[in-house]
Amino acid sequence: MGTAAERSAPEQIRVAGLRKSFAGAGPVVDGLSFSLGQGEILALLGPSGCGKTTILRMIAGFEAPDCGRIFLHGLDVTGLPPQQRKIGIVFQDYALFPHMTVLENIAFGMRAVPRGERPAKAVRWIRLLELENLEQRYPHELSGGQQQRVALARTLAAEPDLVLLDEPFSNLDAALRNSTRKEMRRLFKERGVTAILVTHDQAEALSFADRVGMMSTGRLQQLDTPEKIYQHPENVFVAEFLGHTNLLEVELNGCQALSPLGPLTTLTSGQGRCWVSLRPEHLDLVSDPAGEGQVVSREFRGHDCFYHVNYRGREYKVLAAFDCRLALGEKVSLRVVRPGVVLRG
Ligand code: ATP
Repeated sequence: MGTAAERSAPEQIRVAGLRKSFAGAGPVVDGLSFSLGQGEILALLGPSGCGKTTILRMIAGFEAPDCGRIFLHGLDVTGLPPQQRKIGIVFQDYALFPHMTVLENIAFGMRAVPRGERPAKAVRWIRLLELENLEQRYPHELSGGQQQRVALARTLAAEPDLVLLDEPFSNLDAALRNSTRKEMRRLFKERGVTAILVTHDQAEALSFADRVGMMSTGRLQQLDTPEKIYQHPENVFVAEFLGHTNLLEVELNGCQALSPLGPLTTLTSGQGRCWVSLRPEHLDLVSDPAGEGQVVSREFRGHDCFYHVNYRGREYKVLAAFDCRLALGEKVSLRVVRPGVVLRG
């Protein structure tokens, strides 16, 4: 997991067996364990209410786990108050001080830095996050993207060991969200910042993180690189939440499966009835007057074309090239062009 460099990087954070319940209800975080090397970026991805923010709050020290431990640099910090953990947090709403200027907000993050060194360091952060000429403005005089960068500058100015990001891009419009995300990742990688991002945006998780942790109802379903978690989802939940998929119930014998689409091969072997995931790009469709498939919908998306095809009473998603001209109602045949991924239930 992670690149070779990250695997050999010293461990920055480890959580072991974290569990948390609120007021008599079932656990919202259950049996959570993972570790991150220095400079590694993790995205926790999952539907609303699956426990992502609660995990950040426990790591930051705002919430005490019912059981489990949190280690920073190998040191057990589970019982330490937030201010002793050297963790920086960037929230969705930025939480800037409205009565302080940009410069004062950033300086606030540097309380641990000797007073004399603060102006020079603040200028460095201002330059790095492209906030020049905005130093004397108040938060209400800034755009969403600028506020977001001030919040980040304030957090990074404190030189934390670990940065926690709770949906920090969600208030930005699509274009700004993309550029800020890219810029932030570049900055983190340049400076070796270890970070945990919480999001329910899969594109964000896949493009920002070195590893993605897919959560459902308080449990980590899979923790892998973006490529692995997309190409080799381990179970039905991960396959369905992350990207589009066609789930097929098959009869498996080794790596050969009998599926509703006919025989197909699978990446891993197994025996008996099980679920197989085929991504839309793993299917191909061709015009065929004698074919059993029929185009139900067509969505032209510029760089590609997304189809829904009815085949023997079931709908399949197929990703075709941008110049695919198959029309609604057209008869087609479907072909599996990549091995299927065998899933756990
Ligand atoms: P979202 O993506 O919507 O922010 P999330 O995955 O971050 O959701 P959490 O905020 O961690 O989810 O909440 C997980 C569950 O715990 C939810 O059902 C929530 O209602 C509950 N919860 C969170 N904080 C408390 C609290 N202080 N008291 C009681 N229940 C809480």
